Amino acid sequence: MPLVVKKFGGSSVATLDRISKVARRIVDSKKGNTRLVLVVSAMGDTTDKLLSLASRANPEPPKREIDLLLSTGEIVSSALLSMSLNSLGAEAVAFTGLQGGIITDNVHTKARIRKIETDRIVEEIDKDRIVVVAGFQGVTQENIITTLGRGGSDLTAVALAAALKADMCEIYTDVEGIYTADPRVVPQARKLRRISYDELLEIASSGARVVHPRAVELAKNYEVRLHIRSSFNEKEGTIVE
Ligand code: ASP
Ligand code: MG
Repeated sequence: MPLVVKKFGGSSVATLDRISKVARRIVDSKKGNTRLVLVVSAMGDTTDKLLSLASRANPEPPKREIDLLLSTGEIVSSALLSMSLNSLGAEAVAFTGLQGGIITDNVHTKARIRKIETDRIVEEIDKDRIVVVAGFQGVTQENIITTLGRGGSDLTAVALAAALKADMCEIYTDVEGIYTADPRVVPQARKLRRISYDELLEIASSGARVVHPRAVELAKNYEVRLHIRSSFNEKEGTIVE
């Protein structure tokens, strides 16, 4: 049975209205036996707001507590997306990083994923439930919450796609794909249908950060096909392979 991981960035889930639209689209496009794992970022600028609260509480907040605080952003969006899916008649279940088996090292605020214990996710998708995983977070072996660094939900999505041997990892974002140049600056810029991992890495390191560069590296190493596409329309985006 095909398995697809879909990642929705902060702008795609910025409001409850957008979350409902994402839920509607997922329900409408779910094909028969496709198993779905969704990964979400925090709503809009939630992470920035939480960071500013932290620095008001303490100019040098302990990193362990920063991670605990920031992890709430993705927990909120994953729970709301799962609720929205259930309201449309889909069976969905939301997981924190811990529940999703995402084990990291103990480097707070920029932890690296060490392994993913996929049993609980597999158990749910085998029951034809949609699993919504909070991006950007994991836990140490001691169950202490960590985060993966800014933009880290991309890493969650690609690492899960690799661990679950997904057929595709779709990255839904606020642009329609990868362009030959920045379409906001160069109107004749063309959207690329396909691009290699290395080409995308080059673009990512030159500043145009549609996907986290480490997520692209991870995708390359584990041969995870990426599809970078818009969360606001149905158009095909760019395939990275
Ligand atoms: N919410 C986190 C951030 O703003 C992670 C992510 O969006 O991927 O960096
Ligand atoms: Mg991002």
